[in-house]
Amino acid sequence: MMNYISDIVQTLRHATKKFSVPLADAIIVEYGKDPYLILISCLLSLRAKDAMTIHVCRKLFAHARTPQQMVALSRAELEKLVYQSGFYKNKARALHNVSVEIIENYGGKVPRSKDALLAMKGVGPKTANLVVALAFGQPEICVDTHVHRISNRLGLVHTKKVEDTEEALRMMLPKKYWIEWNKLLVMWGQNVCTPQSPWCSRCAVRQWCKRVGVTKAR
Ligand code: SF4
Repeated sequence: MMNYISDIVQTLRHATKKFSVPLADAIIVEYGKDPYLILISCLLSLRAKDAMTIHVCRKLFAHARTPQQMVALSRAELEKLVYQSGFYKNKARALHNVSVEIIENYGGKVPRSKDALLAMKGVGPKTANLVVALAFGQPEICVDTHVHRISNRLGLVHTKKVEDTEEALRMMLPKKYWIEWNKLLVMWGQNVCTPQSPWCSRCAVRQWCKRVGVTKAR
């Protein structure tokens, strides 16, 4: 099993080289490994496309890059800045609330602990894992819809709910791949193993894939 996973990872590393990196990685390239900006970008990306979210992030970060600057924005200003990412009222509230919490409880710095992040209103496991993994280098598996779908299609896990996939992957995926798994599968999911009708005919990892649940493919 170990070699087989390592073959998939090596192949995906090579095959994804030409693809755009996922949002959080794009934020790191543009702004450096800033835990606060990674957290804010993750919150903005919920139910939004990466291409739109990066645009909204750039607009927002031109006005606020620290929790103090974020809370200094009026609610109306904040809503206007994040409007294009959708669910703007909820997102503006979440951004304001986490910023207040970081200032009041953590001295203005994003906490390194996953539990502390999860205790913040509006921060779920996907966001908490991505922040601690990418900003602090802690081995965690960030499971989003792409990771859930492709891990199941490959036959590596057998889970119905996204919430169960993290635990299932922790049991079978070598720890050295935990952080990277999200990046590789998000890029694969956006470009090849798409939700509807995946491109199995041109898939570099097809030889290892059980194609579980795939009924229509290109
Ligand atoms: S073979 Fe098809 S289902 Fe399997 S990973 Fe590739 S695109 Fe996805």
